[in-house]
Amino acid sequence: MTINQERPMTYSKMRGLVTFLSALLKGKKVGFSDFIHKLVSSQQLCQHLDSQKLLQRQSKLKRAKGGKATLNSVNSEAAQMKPSDFDYLKVIGTGSFGKVLLARHRKQGNYYAVKVLQKQMIIKRREERHVMVERSVLVKGLQHPFLVGLHFSFQTPNTLYFVLDYVNGGELFYHLQRQGSFPEPRAAFYCAEMAAALGYLHSLNIVYRDLKPENILLDSEGHVMLTDFGLCKEGVAIGEIMHTFCGTPEYLAPEVLQGHPYSPAVDWWGLGVVLFEMLCGLPPFYNHSKAEMFENILHAHLQLPSSLSGGACSLLEGLLERDISKRLGESRDIEELQEHPFFTFINWDDLVARKVKPPFIPNVSGPCDISYIDPEFTLQPVPSCVNERCQTAVASEAFPGFSFMNPADCMAVP
Ligand code: AMP
Repeated sequence: MTINQERPMTYSKMRGLVTFLSALLKGKKVGFSDFIHKLVSSQQLCQHLDSQKLLQRQSKLKRAKGGKATLNSVNSEAAQMKPSDFDYLKVIGTGSFGKVLLARHRKQGNYYAVKVLQKQMIIKRREERHVMVERSVLVKGLQHPFLVGLHFSFQTPNTLYFVLDYVNGGELFYHLQRQGSFPEPRAAFYCAEMAAALGYLHSLNIVYRDLKPENILLDSEGHVMLTDFGLCKEGVAIGEIMHTFCGTPEYLAPEVLQGHPYSPAVDWWGLGVVLFEMLCGLPPFYNHSKAEMFENILHAHLQLPSSLSGGACSLLEGLLERDISKRLGESRDIEELQEHPFFTFINWDDLVARKVKPPFIPNVSGPCDISYIDPEFTLQPVPSCVNERCQTAVASEAFPGFSFMNPADCMAVP
C-alpha cells in the first residue's frame, strides 16, 4: 500500500478506484473477508488505495458543502486518541486476536465495547491488510439498526483498538440456553431482524458468511444486533476451509464447507440454522463429533419436529436447501423471505424503524450493566497492557491511517 507516499489523488484516479471497486463487487458476489482479500491483493487497487488522500478529498468536499465536522479534523482528532482516554472496566468477550472490553470514555462518560487486537497476532496470520481495508469499508458505509456501529478506531505500537456500541442485552444464545427454545413468534421476530440486517449487507454486495451465536447480541431494548461483521476473524479463504478449519462447522453452509464458490445465499442457510436452533434448541445437523457433523451438513436428511407449524417447516426447508439455485433468497434475496407465510405478521417497515415491540426486554439497569455477560469473561482480569498510560498513538508501518473517529463523536468528545 502507498498510504504514506505523497502522490496526488487526481479525480480520474478516484474515478478509476470507484469503477474498479464497483466492477469487482458486481462481477462476483464474494464473502466480506474474501472481498477484502481480493481488494488488497490487487496491484491495480493497491496503486489507487490511498485512503488518507481519499479522506482528505472527502473532507474538502464536505467543507465546501459547509459541513461542520470535516473528516480532516475528525481524523486528526482520532490520531490523537489513546488508550488512556478510556477506563477499562471489564472483559466482556474474547475474539481470535484479542479481548473485548467494556470501557468508559473518561471525558465524555459514554460506555463502549472496545475490541483490542494484538498487532503481532494479526501480522503473524498475515491479516494486517484485511484489518485495514475492512476498517475503511466499515467506517464508510455500514449503518443499520441491527448492526453494531463503530465510533472510533486508534492504535498504539502493539495494539489496534475498535471502539464499538456496547450492546448489553446479552448474546441471543445466552437467553436461548436458559429457555431451551423460543416460541415461534419470538423466533420469528429475531429471525426477521437478522434477515433485515443481512438483506442490507447484501444490498451493498457484502456477504456476512459468519452468522453464528456469539455474533448475535440483544441490545438493552431487546432488538438484535449483529457484531463482528467487518473484523476479519478467521481469515479462512475459499477452498482452504477444510484444511484450516479449526472452529465448529454447525453454522456453515455446505458450499462453504466444500470450498465451492458461494453467493449471499450462504447467509440464508446460516439464518436457517439459527432459526432451527431457536425453535428446537440445537442446530439442525448437530453431532458431538465434528466429522459426523460435516457429513450431516453435506448429506443428512433435514428432520423437523412435528411440533413446528407448517410455516416454520416450509421456511426451514427453504433456507436449509443444499441446492443453492433452489434455496429461498437465492434469486430475490430478502424479498423472498419477506413474502414467506412465517413472517405474515411482520410489518417490515415498522421492523427496521425499530417500531415492533421486542418479545423480551432485557432487565438491564443502565448502559454499563454487565448482568447478561458470561462470568467466564467478566471474572477475567482486565489486561494491564490496555491501561498503559505511556502508550501513545504512534502508527506502525503495518497499519498506517488506521485511526478513525465517527463525525458524530467528534462533536461529542469535549
Ligand atoms: P468478536 O471478536 O467480535 O466475536 O467478539 C467476541 C465476543 O465479545 C462476542 O462473542 C460478544 O460476546 C462480545 N462482544 C463483541 N462485540 C460486542 C459489543 N459491541 N457489545 C457487547 N459485547 C460484544
